[in-house]
Amino acid sequence: LRGVVALDGPSGTGKTTVARKLAAKLGAGYLDTGAMYRVVTLAVLRAGIDPTDAAAVAALTSQVQVGVGTDPDNPRAQLNGEDVGEEIRTERVNVAVSPVSAVPEVRQVLVAGQREIIEAVLGSVGGIVVDGRDIGTVVAPGAPLKVFLTASAEVRAARRSAQDSAAGRDSTPEHARASVERRDQLDSTRTVSPLRAAEDAVVFDTSELSIEQVITALSELASR
Ligand code: C5P
Repeated sequence: LRGVVALDGPSGTGKTTVARKLAAKLGAGYLDTGAMYRVVTLAVLRAGIDPTDAAAVAALTSQVQVGVGTDPDNPRAQLNGEDVGEEIRTERVNVAVSPVSAVPEVRQVLVAGQREIIEAVLGSVGGIVVDGRDIGTVVAPGAPLKVFLTASAEVRAARRSAQDSAAGRDSTPEHARASVERRDQLDSTRTVSPLRAAEDAVVFDTSELSIEQVITALSELASR
């Protein structure tokens, strides 16, 4: 792969699994921008800051060092050098991440970091799959391939719940549905960079498709 594949969409669409496997298949790098918002959120929680206190969140952001790996087979996430890959997936972080990512200063800092990482990977590996909510609209609007994944609320809740159970976290489909819907509602209605498909994105409903089918379709699009 040469260039950027922008992969956006709400949670539970299989986006992260698709992005990682697609990157591995195409011999490209991988960037999980959601992990970066989660790392900042974890820092906010650890500092005892109210995630809805935008001024306090903004002030903390400049002091936090967010580290993410770009190897699709080993995507690390670090907070000030500490591995936090597991901790950023907990419900505590799920609940707080939307208000934190709605703070303009947080987005400014992270989008700048994301563009640097993308440039570095393009310069070394040549191609990168970037997973997020605003990649096609804000982070990499010039990406030659933009994909927006969707799926029905039932399917997204079931996938999130299965993912949580597989990782040993407590979850029921009902709870996962409420959690996923709440987050998507907040992400789609915020004033800065709301979740939406870029005008030139290929919109893909994954409700009836397996992960493998989605990857096959996307790798065909990417190699055109
Ligand atoms: O992709 P993931 O579910 O890990 O993202 C967690 C949260 O981070 C999203 O619900 C959203 O609030 C935020 N996010 C964002 N912009 C991105 C990626 C994630 O606002 N590019």
